[in-house]
Amino acid sequence: MVADLHRQLDEIGVELRLGTALAAEPASAPGTAGEFTAVTADGAELTADIWFGAYGSRIHTDYLDGAVPRNELGQVKVTERLTVQGHETVYALGDITDVAETKMAAMAMRHAEVVAANILAHSKGTEPEAVYAPIPVKVILLPLGPAAGVGQFPNELGAAFQVPLETVVQMKGAGMMLGHFRELFNV
Ligand SMILES: Cc1cc2nc3c(=O)[nH]c(=O)nc-3n(C[C@H](O)[C@H](O)[C@H](O)COP(=O)(O)OP(=O)(O)OC[C@H]3O[C@@H](n4cnc5c(N)ncnc54)[C@H](O)[C@@H]3O)c2cc1C
Repeated sequence: MVADLHRQLDEIGVELRLGTALAAEPASAPGTAGEFTAVTADGAELTADIWFGAYGSRIHTDYLDGAVPRNELGQVKVTERLTVQGHETVYALGDITDVAETKMAAMAMRHAEVVAANILAHSKGTEPEAVYAPIPVKVILLPLGPAAGVGQFPNELGAAFQVPLETVVQMKGAGMMLGHFRELFNV
């Protein structure tokens, strides 16, 4: 998949410079069109039309009090039912949980299915039994525009396999899932 991605980037003229960084932020604001030339940490010049800061993200859970157990990363400790540890009817989902997996919207949506099923069970007076199991491999759909890109899903044995380009296009590239969310939120 990585080799395919490199090939596709190469075909559209994207030059990857890995393992380096800009020595200083460009004069133009991030995410704002405007040609600039910057110098990278290894001393090379780089001219481009736009730049984005992509330094990773971190969660903000300081507002939670001591009743919510958190790990050293600030992640909320949850059970396999996605209840907050030590609580029977308080749930946590999404990026703030300590579930060992890549933090992605796709996973947050899977969490939501479990939490919704358990809350429904509570409301009906039945036992909340839905549990969450992380997907054992990294899952990604990475479109390069509406008609290219790569993606990886698990197969029925739980091993990673590269999905066909049509899957990347149909599931994400063509509409960035807007249709799915329009339907979900009934808008
Ligand atoms: C650049 C980028 C690209 C990404 N691309 C993808 C992708 O292609 N596919 C994918 O699956 N995932 C992607 N992700 C990850 C995805 O965005 C997150 O996993 C997802 O948004 C997590 O959802 P969440 O509801 O847990 O948290 P969030 O979406 O972060 O929502 C948390 C909300 O809580 C609010 N909040 C925080 N503190 C407080 C407070 N004290 N009081 C009230 N509100 C508060 C925040 O403002 C925010 O609106 C991407 C993330 C980034 C940064």
